[in-house]
Amino acid sequence: MSAAGPSQAYRGRFAPSPTGPLHAGSLVAALASWLDARAQQGQWLVRIEDVDLPRCVPGVDQHILQQLAACGLYPDQPPVWQSQRTDLYRRALDRLIECDQAYPCACTRKDIEEALHANGKTKPRHGELVYPGTCRDGLHGKPARAWRFRTPEQSVVHWTDRRCGPQVQDVAQAVGDFVLLRADGLFAYQLAVVVDDADQGVTHVVRGEDLSDNTPRQILLQRALGYPTPHYLHTPLVLAEDGQKLSKQNGAAALDTSTAEAALAALDQAAESLGLHPRGNRDNRGMALAAWVAHWRAMY
Ligand code: GLU
Repeated sequence: MSAAGPSQAYRGRFAPSPTGPLHAGSLVAALASWLDARAQQGQWLVRIEDVDLPRCVPGVDQHILQQLAACGLYPDQPPVWQSQRTDLYRRALDRLIECDQAYPCACTRKDIEEALHANGKTKPRHGELVYPGTCRDGLHGKPARAWRFRTPEQSVVHWTDRRCGPQVQDVAQAVGDFVLLRADGLFAYQLAVVVDDADQGVTHVVRGEDLSDNTPRQILLQRALGYPTPHYLHTPLVLAEDGQKLSKQNGAAALDTSTAEAALAALDQAAESLGLHPRGNRDNRGMALAAWVAHWRAMY
């Protein structure tokens, strides 16, 4: 392979959940992951994360793919849908169960709240309750509802984010044994994302900073399943005017990509959030993207 030739090694991805169309915040993650792949002459994949089917909106997956195309962000391979990949998640869970790294759990949210209350620990972290480990040593005759990851004793994870630098989290303390298969029978995001990144050979994960907190859990799962750990870069969050994170949950407006002009304006705004120089007098999408690839390569 020549130095200028395409790198077989690099594989990146953008993994939107089709719970709503792309908004200004999600385009930042899409653009950053695309730029990183282009800057490293790698492959850029798109994975539709519809594992949490009840939260997905029919037709939004196609809408997202159209929004990406309108911005000139085309995947190098046909997109994949998580809802069609549950066999892979099942097999991974079975492997974890076989080596006792996953266990069944009978607890309802109320049970968990009560157990935490009894231990004097009531404060949820980001709305998530730190699992007190009630079912770690057995179900005590109760029916299994979910499956949890048995967080190893060595649960302090150190990792380096390419933008944010060295990070550390004690997973046992921060989240405890987390869910792999939910009580409603759906696989949890943590398991699906780890299995998919490994199965698709993803070497570089570039995504929004709101997901940074999940990385240590994903690293522990990768280790438990014998998968390599990708390189991570978490992009800055786009804040709404009230300082809140821009998200579908708090009603972020869908990106307007209905005209070439609108798509370029949306890209421009996303590029600015990434600290890339403005488009200046280039009003051609292709030229703007090429200039940002060069700037991105210089930054990372
Ligand atoms: N599907 C997740 C989301 O839309 C992104 C997951 C990831 O990039 O790891 O927030």
